[in-house]
Amino acid sequence: MADVLQMIARFQEACRAPKKQLDYYLSQGKKVVGCFPPYTPEELVYAAGMIPMGLWGGQTELMLSKSYLPPFACPIMQANMELALNGAYRGLSACIIPAICDTLRTMTQNWRFGVKEIPMIPIVYPQNRKSAASVDYLISEYEHILVMLAAVTGNMVTEKSMCEAIDVYNEHNAVMREFSQTANAHLDVITPRIRHAVFKSAFFFDKKEHTELVRELIAELNALPAFHFQGKKVVLTGISCEPDELLEVFEENSIAVVGDDLAQENRQIRTDTPAKGGGALKRLALQWNARTGCGMIHEDGKPRGALLTEKCRESGADGVVNCLMKFCDPEEYDQPFFEKDLREAGYPCLTIEIDSQNRSYEQIRTRLETFCEIL
Ligand code: SF4
Repeated sequence: MADVLQMIARFQEACRAPKKQLDYYLSQGKKVVGCFPPYTPEELVYAAGMIPMGLWGGQTELMLSKSYLPPFACPIMQANMELALNGAYRGLSACIIPAICDTLRTMTQNWRFGVKEIPMIPIVYPQNRKSAASVDYLISEYEHILVMLAAVTGNMVTEKSMCEAIDVYNEHNAVMREFSQTANAHLDVITPRIRHAVFKSAFFFDKKEHTELVRELIAELNALPAFHFQGKKVVLTGISCEPDELLEVFEENSIAVVGDDLAQENRQIRTDTPAKGGGALKRLALQWNARTGCGMIHEDGKPRGALLTEKCRESGADGVVNCLMKFCDPEEYDQPFFEKDLREAGYPCLTIEIDSQNRSYEQIRTRLETFCEIL
């Protein structure tokens, strides 16, 4: 058990102090590229021999960002802008911003004018994924990124290194999916805060290293007796569910997280890049086209409700907590559709607002307590 706790502390420390991870990789002579949420082609950065590092905001006082963003921009982007302007991201060789929503589109321009010392690489993903042209278009976007990355490293990425990077990421996906399963047999150890730390820390490690650490954790968990959890079980959906003070409220109410559909967690690892289908860039484009159930990607038929229902069924969850990022339009648009599907399937759904700048969780505490009573 001591070993498990030590391993967990490593994940938690990376989430608590990502700057330490950045400084560590820089001290190793590595270059690091910041990756904005929700999706960036990290594989290309990895193939270029650099470390992709997630930029998911955090708790910080908003001062400088107010000159760039309106107050109704989501808290993640407010925090990212603030941290960038006050120098917290110094050391990054570049950053990639996917222009996937209105706020992110604004961020590409804000970054260009406000954070001149860190080159910004934009990517626009195709939303009409039924068109065959979407693949060619996305390949051209990836080629543009490769050229920009080559300007950082001085070398063009090879096909071989891209294929190797894809393997590293697919392997990481598989190990994280295994972790999700294993965690549910050990809900006494893998509390909501710890589950979150294991997932989120993936953004701050070399993926190969993270894969090995999670693999070791799984082996240690498998050596422990399975635990019969008696509280309530939920599946989380949304962009992210943090900070720890919020997840602590789940724990206080004996609520376990047994699955998720969070952009920061499961959506990152549930769609592998196909092993076949063409060259590395084409395979990555096919991976984008295979993504499903995400509010930020256009899809006919809105399958997110069915996906959540299936997650509840397979994990034995009692209901769903919708972690609605404050001021996130794409997530708000999706909510009525999946709520209706969940209602029809008999799974209660509670929506709570996620705002990393929030310091008081009393309202959420009351709402979760009430939700537990109807589960
Ligand atoms: S998708 Fe939502 S959370 Fe993400 S950047 Fe856009 S508004 Fe913010």
